[in-house]
Amino acid sequence: MSAEIQLIRKTVREFVDSAVLPQIKKMEAGEYPRDLVKKLGELGLLAPLVPAEYGGGSADTLTQVVIIEELARASPALATIAEIQGSMIAHNIYELGNKRQKEEILPKIAAGDYVAAFALSEPCCGSDAAAIETRAEKVGREWVLNGTKMWITSGLHADYYLVFARTGPREARHRAITSFLIPRSSCIEATPIEVMGMHGSGTAEVKFNNCRAGDDDVVGEVNGGWRVAMNGINLGRLNVGALGLGIAEESFIQAFKYAKKRVAFGRPISEFQIIQHYLAEMYIKAEAARSVVYTAAKMRDGGDPQFVLYAQAAKVLGSRAAVENSRLAVQIMGGFGYSKDAHVEMLYRDAKVTEIYEGTNEIILNTLFKFLDREVG
Ligand SMILES: Cc1cc2nc3c(=O)[nH]c(=O)nc-3n(C[C@H](O)[C@H](O)[C@H](O)COP(=O)(O)OP(=O)(O)OC[C@H]3O[C@@H](n4cnc5c(N)ncnc54)[C@H](O)[C@@H]3O)c2cc1C
Repeated sequence: MSAEIQLIRKTVREFVDSAVLPQIKKMEAGEYPRDLVKKLGELGLLAPLVPAEYGGGSADTLTQVVIIEELARASPALATIAEIQGSMIAHNIYELGNKRQKEEILPKIAAGDYVAAFALSEPCCGSDAAAIETRAEKVGREWVLNGTKMWITSGLHADYYLVFARTGPREARHRAITSFLIPRSSCIEATPIEVMGMHGSGTAEVKFNNCRAGDDDVVGEVNGGWRVAMNGINLGRLNVGALGLGIAEESFIQAFKYAKKRVAFGRPISEFQIIQHYLAEMYIKAEAARSVVYTAAKMRDGGDPQFVLYAQAAKVLGSRAAVENSRLAVQIMGGFGYSKDAHVEMLYRDAKVTEIYEGTNEIILNTLFKFLDREVG
């Protein structure tokens, strides 16, 4: 880790202590942390990969994963909001957006003035995203969008939606999908969805009812939306690995400290061998995740084409470490671990979705196998 990255880690920790931790209870009650999104933007932590001239942090991928890791230790919900807005949207627009989108909208998304949502999944199709049914029809010079998106993070509060719609026959699958960047307006109806964890992240069903868009609102090429989706998702999967690492690491630290203090049968529970083994296993899982997440980030920074393969591995390993370590942390902390006073109770609920969103782990294993078959087979 360079001195620069260590400094950024310290900055994020200070931000977490002073601004994020005091807001956890409010977020758990469902409040969306718009002020924290803005503050992350001001600190250059929201869209680290985007150049500063477009409102980002001009940093590298390793810096980005360290930011997500540190945010996730305190609030996986905030880390999710940040990584989607910063990587899957802002960085995507920077790489694939047009001049107007880059000059007028990107700086406000990257700086946290606007909240943005990535709207791909639908009631019909999450894993099979190439089968989406939301349509964009060309009527005169305008596109008219109709359809329903599901499970959209920040969907309840977004000022802008990066929405994916079908612009050709359904049989053409991913070759007939176009992405549009459209502002919130009265044609958009967002309804909250209550979920197990990630409270405060504004998860919503979002309906597009005859929403109008111009050619200028298309991101990338017409029928080239799949490229935009994958460009965001590959980076997003690495970020989910980092998020899982943060959860796994914090679960380990909290369980370790508790085990040293909690007394049962006249001695600290850390003196029972099974607790020692649980803690040792948790350490191994967190460090294995760290190793793959950081390696993948460095591969991307070095332009290594195998980055995509490692990003998938990082997602699976990080999410598993998150689920397993948070479960064990609750177990080690007994009844207290199961109470709302324990941070690990929230981490345990938040961890589960890291195995589901941005491609379920099953879908990622499918992708990984195809990749390996091509490269190794
Ligand atoms: C809290 C939360 C936030 C989210 N945020 C966003 C967001 O911001 N934007 C967005 O677009 N989406 C978002 N999602 C949606 C998420 O990406 C999808 O839920 C996910 O891709 C899975 O899709 P699905 O729910 O339709 O499950 P399904 O596709 O119905 O899958 C159900 C089960 O079948 C398995 N399965 C399906 N196909 C295969 C196969 N070929 N091989 C093996 N197993 C298979 C899956 O792995 C899973 O176990 C979010 C979801 C949640 C819960």
